[in-house]
Amino acid sequence: CGIVGYVGSSDAIDVLLNGLSSLEYRGYDSAGVALANGTLAVHKREGELAALESALPTAELRGRSIGIGHTRWSTHGPPSNVNAHPHTDGEGRVAVVHNGIIENYQSLRDELTADGVTFESETDTEVVPHLISQALSAGASPETAFRTAIDRIEGSYAVAAVFAGSETIHAARQASPLVLGIGDDGYYLASDAPAFIDYTDRVVYLEDGEFARLSPEAVVVTDSNGNVVETSVETIEWDA
Ligand code: GLU
Repeated sequence: CGIVGYVGSSDAIDVLLNGLSSLEYRGYDSAGVALANGTLAVHKREGELAALESALPTAELRGRSIGIGHTRWSTHGPPSNVNAHPHTDGEGRVAVVHNGIIENYQSLRDELTADGVTFESETDTEVVPHLISQALSAGASPETAFRTAIDRIEGSYAVAAVFAGSETIHAARQASPLVLGIGDDGYYLASDAPAFIDYTDRVVYLEDGEFARLSPEAVVVTDSNGNVVETSVETIEWDA
């Protein structure tokens, strides 16, 4: 239901938890985060944000400056720790959060299962990390693997992914909102700007079919063919 992401010079866990609490108004039944920098750290819990927070090894997560977070409103698979996002490939290579519904997930799931992939959850979302992982195994870069996976899914989605050993967040949207934040201490992404308004009021709205990559140095938006899109940065009015 809600997505947040951050890459920059601050502790990502603080930015993610602050962002997720700002998105609570949208409603949710579970929450989770994935921190990158080196190996992926994924933590998720059914229930309120407080349940996730008390399960987090927060001290251990400090010093990590890239991550994604999610509040889930279940559509496929009941609320549970396993069905909560982020979802991974089971091999520690990629973690994915998703808002929306992947309409063709069953046929993708059947195809992946036939290829020997084991699914942990009952979600539509889990096909995405496995499609990414398959492309990585075939030699694709994280960006190409991400695009390959997104090209195969149909439906409504805002998706964000982090990769082990990478400092880039990859994101895409189709019929689900996703907004980027341009801050002094890093770059943000969220399904709704209140998630990062404490840090910046400069935003770039992603359009349907567009992709974004956020690294410590830059935000780059590309179209479905991979061509760089000129973005306009807007300043949002916000009465706190
Ligand atoms: N369809 C996904 C699920 O059931 C995402 C739901 C959401 O937007 O929170 O896990």
